[in-house]
Amino acid sequence: MLNVLVLGGTDEARRLAAALAGRAGTHVVSSLAGRVRDPKLPVGEVREGGFGGPAGLAAWLAGRRIDVVVDATHPFAARMTASAAEAARATGLPLLILRRPGWRPGPGDDWRPVPSLEAAAELLPALGERVFLTTGRRSLPVFAGLDGLWFLARSVDPPEPPLPRRAEILLSRGPFTVEGELALMREHRIDVLVTKDSGGRMTTAKLHAARELGLPVVVVRRPPAPGGVPAVETVEEAVAWLESVAHAGQRRRGHAG
Ligand code: NAP
Repeated sequence: MLNVLVLGGTDEARRLAAALAGRAGTHVVSSLAGRVRDPKLPVGEVREGGFGGPAGLAAWLAGRRIDVVVDATHPFAARMTASAAEAARATGLPLLILRRPGWRPGPGDDWRPVPSLEAAAELLPALGERVFLTTGRRSLPVFAGLDGLWFLARSVDPPEPPLPRRAEILLSRGPFTVEGELALMREHRIDVLVTKDSGGRMTTAKLHAARELGLPVVVVRRPPAPGGVPAVETVEEAVAWLESVAHAGQRRRGHAG
């Protein structure tokens, strides 16, 4: 039996759990941080909550006799990704990063890449007054001091204070449509969009809408992935990698027998 831990909280992680469900010889446990109030759950076994850092994760992996870990967390979940890399080193377990590709600007796009949320906040006053902020509920404090700007801040769950003084909060979960995003940006007379380079198809509509309206988009670049860890971009590649790990394990057991 190949015991797989999938670190999740993303569409890819749910699709990977679904692709592996019911496969003979494979058992999957999906892990969620437990922060979203009503999370979309993957099929199969699910556990929720932090592990207590790399040491806690290493102990959990040993206790559950996990054979292999797939880090399919969001590209901006840098602490969990670093923790998985450290725990895999400590335990000697194989680790794969499943990370969807980042977005690429197309013709007509006016993108302003920045290295951090703080850099995005610094740039904003030069780009407009009415901001559509889509960087997640925990990012709002970074923009809280910008009293000269007005924000439409969209998140799945209510954001954490401090909030910008002039802000409207929109609680909503994707996927979104281009028509919907166009209507929203027009209604609120948006001057500039702020997004993380999350990648994936669920939230690209806002980028198409910004292009159509000729708006600048401040794009926060991804944190770098840990070095030396194999990485793939699709669920299919992750399944193939897991199959190769399972075959290698069978060969080792065959030799040992
Ligand atoms: P983070 O800053 O990298 O993680 C903070 C801590 O939360 C981790 O050290 C870990 O606690 C715990 N944690 C995170 N992901 C976990 C998981 N899948 N299973 C168990 N514990 C987890 O992560 P984040 O940015 O807060 O994201 C939290 C979750 O939301 C992730 O699962 C991610 O895939 C999902 N998500 C994040 C974003 C985003 O923009 N960051 C967007 C969409 C979805 P311990 O150290 O105690 O183990």
